[in-house]
Amino acid sequence: MNYQKIFAQAIDRLHAEGRYRVFIDILRNKGNFPDARCFAGHNGPKPIVVWCSNDYLAMGQHPDVIAAMETTLHDVGAGSGGTRNIGGNTHYHVELEAELADLHGKEAALLFTSGYISNEATLSTLGKILPGCVIFSDELNHASMIAGIRTSGCEKRVFRHNDLVHLEELLAATPADVPKLIAFESVYSMDGDIAPIGAICDLADKYNAITYLDEVHAVGMYGSHGGGISERDGVAERLTIIEGTLGKAFGVMGGYIAADRNIIDVVRSYAPGFIFTTSLSPVLVAGALASVRHLKKSSEEREAQQANAARLKAIFADAGLPVMPSTTHIVPLMVGDPVRAKKISDILLAEYGVYVQPINYPTVPRGTERLRFTPGPSHSEEMMHALASALVEIWDRMEMRLAA
Ligand code: PLP
Repeated sequence: MNYQKIFAQAIDRLHAEGRYRVFIDILRNKGNFPDARCFAGHNGPKPIVVWCSNDYLAMGQHPDVIAAMETTLHDVGAGSGGTRNIGGNTHYHVELEAELADLHGKEAALLFTSGYISNEATLSTLGKILPGCVIFSDELNHASMIAGIRTSGCEKRVFRHNDLVHLEELLAATPADVPKLIAFESVYSMDGDIAPIGAICDLADKYNAITYLDEVHAVGMYGSHGGGISERDGVAERLTIIEGTLGKAFGVMGGYIAADRNIIDVVRSYAPGFIFTTSLSPVLVAGALASVRHLKKSSEEREAQQANAARLKAIFADAGLPVMPSTTHIVPLMVGDPVRAKKISDILLAEYGVYVQPINYPTVPRGTERLRFTPGPSHSEEMMHALASALVEIWDRMEMRLAA
C-alpha cells in the first residue's frame, strides 16, 4: 500500500478542480479594522483591506472587549484548566450563559468551544435521545448541522431551500406519532437570504415538531438587542432551540445553544462534544460577555453595517457587477467558476491590496463559485469605490461580462 501516493492524489484532485485552498497569512491592525497586514510576498508585510471577515461588526477590536480580556487574563490566567465538569466551570461561563439565555428569551443556555461543535453536539444528542426521531433539514444547512444529524443516526428528510410547501409535504408524509425536529438557519451566509422562521414554526406547530434554528450569521446583527432574526421577527419564543456563535459578530470565539432548562440539561448531561473537552478559556468568555452586553445596548454598529452593505450592493450594481440578490449584510458576487474566482481574488490581493477569499465547492454548489464580501461599519465609501473599480478592471481583463 502506497499511502503517500494516495494522499498526494487526493491533493492533486483539488488542484485539478481549481479548489485547492491557500490560506492568506495576515495580521489585523487593532483599532484600524478593516486594515491589516499580509505576509504573502518576500518584502515584508504589505497593507491590505479585509473584505471577507466574519468579525462583522469589528467587535474583536472593541475597547470593552479588549479590556475585559486583559483584565481576565491578569486576574485568572490563560486557560480554564478543565472540562466544565472537572474544574473548568468558571464564573465567567456561568455569567455568559445567563446573558445568552436572556438575549434569546430562553430559560437557559450552554456554551461550546465553537458554533460547529454546538450544532454537531446538540443535534446528534437530541436525535439519539428522541426515540425514532426524524430530522427535517434545509438543503443548504451548514456542514456542522449535517454532521450532527448524521451522527444522531436519525432518518433525515432534506427539504428544498426555504421551501415551505416541500417541508409540509415531508412532514405530512411522516406518521403523527414519530418525533420530528426541523433544523434550519436564519441567515444563509453564502447567499445572504433569510428563512421564513414564523411560517416554519407554524408548520412545526401543525405537525407537532420541535425546531432548531442556527442564528450564527445573525446574532449581534439583527433584532434590537442583537438576538438575531428571531428577535427581529418577534418569533424567538416559538423556537425550541436557538444556536449561535461568539466567533462572528461577537468577535471572539465559541458557540452556544439557548432553550428551556430541560433541553439544556439533557445536552449538558449527554453530549460528548460538550462533556469531554476543556471548556473555553475564561479570557475568551469574558471578551464574549463584554461583546454580548455591548451589542444588547448599542445598535450603532448594526445600523452602520446595514447602511454599508446597502451602499456596497448599490455601487456593485451601478458598476454592472453580478451582485447576487442578498437581503442581508452579505454581499456575494457570482463568478460561477472556481479557477476564475481564485484568479480574481489573487489579482485583488497582489495588485490592489484587497483581501477577499474565493468561495468554492463544497461550501457552495459547483458552478456557483463566488466572491463573498462582508462590509462592516468601518469600511468607507472611498474603499467601496476603489474596490468596485478594481473589480471592473479585472472583469474586463479576464473578458468577463458586465451588465450594461
Ligand atoms: N453555522 C453556520 C451556519 C456557519 O456558517 C458556521 C461557520 O461558518 C458555523 C455554524 C460554525 O460556527 P463557528 O465558526 O463558531 O464554529
